[in-house]
Amino acid sequence: MASNYIAGSERDYSRGGGNPTWDALEDVIGALEGGTAVCFSSGMGAVDAVLDDLPPGAPVVHPEVAYMNMRANIARRQESGRLEARAVDITDTDATLAACDGAKLLWIESPTNPLLGIADVRALVAGAKQRGLEVAFDNTVATPLLQRPLEHGVDIVVHSATKLIGGHSDLLLGVAVCAEPDRAARLRELQNLAGSTPGTLESWLALRGVRTLHLRLDRSQQNAHELARRLASHPEVDRVRYPGLEDDPGHRRARELMRGFGSMLAFEPRGGPDRADAICDRVRVLVSATSLGGIETLIERRAKWRGEELVPASLLRLSVGCEHVEDLWDDLEGALEATK
Ligand SMILES: *Cc1c(COP(=O)(O)O)cnc(C)c1O
Repeated sequence: MASNYIAGSERDYSRGGGNPTWDALEDVIGALEGGTAVCFSSGMGAVDAVLDDLPPGAPVVHPEVAYMNMRANIARRQESGRLEARAVDITDTDATLAACDGAKLLWIESPTNPLLGIADVRALVAGAKQRGLEVAFDNTVATPLLQRPLEHGVDIVVHSATKLIGGHSDLLLGVAVCAEPDRAARLRELQNLAGSTPGTLESWLALRGVRTLHLRLDRSQQNAHELARRLASHPEVDRVRYPGLEDDPGHRRARELMRGFGSMLAFEPRGGPDRADAICDRVRVLVSATSLGGIETLIERRAKWRGEELVPASLLRLSVGCEHVEDLWDDLEGALEATK
């Protein structure tokens, strides 16, 4: 807990000179992803630094449905002529690569938030490299325990460590992990000049959280898979999206590219957005709240947010936590029954 250090010691001022707690967290996440990590004050701090480092007017190819504030950041930069946004369906490899011609950066998110689409990372990276693009990958939803994008040739992985890495819904923190140490050094310079440095306490909490990431993820993805299976055969549910379900459009790719199917799922109850809202009001074990990756199960109707117009209106996103699966199912089934 120090902003400055005694003259002549290894560090001088923490914004530019760092802090031992950030170093420890960067070592851990860098090792997990297999690159050089730089921590930021939030996931958006990391996203912003990657985008800020592009030349003026650079075309950026990004998923049209993906984390909404990443898209909002790109859109804002486009409005002021700082970037050119090219939105694609990232699960459509041919369309994505066609948009990559003449572009500077390909931004991948997979599984996508909140539709849980799976991108063909290998083919996208190969095609992007051929065309001379840099590739960034938001690995928040899967975590490095399920996939390590740098191994596929991705240049920069970003995380909202607010989510699964922290794991307890009690901090904001972001990370960018670079394949090249020089790229990490540039991001660290931007972090210093923008002042988007992480808090020491938050870094310490994230270090404590990451120690149980494997346990939390094991449990929460088991729960997610079971809930997805049960929802898929429930008569009051129109559609379930979870890459672990065999008939999910992303299943084959997820099996090939990921070591597990993750803790996020989405479903559309019969009866439209009002029914979906009523389910959120009704649950007692699940928590009606935004965000994801905590030990508690969260439920949210995503399309209520501005900027999520491409998300089906009644889609409920679940970030599944570590509770007993039967408690979760009783609650969900009860809410489906009560809102018929
Ligand atoms: C939450 C989130 C972010 C942004 O992270 P913050 O820590 O909230 O700034 C970025 N990407 C994804 C996929 C997210 O879920």
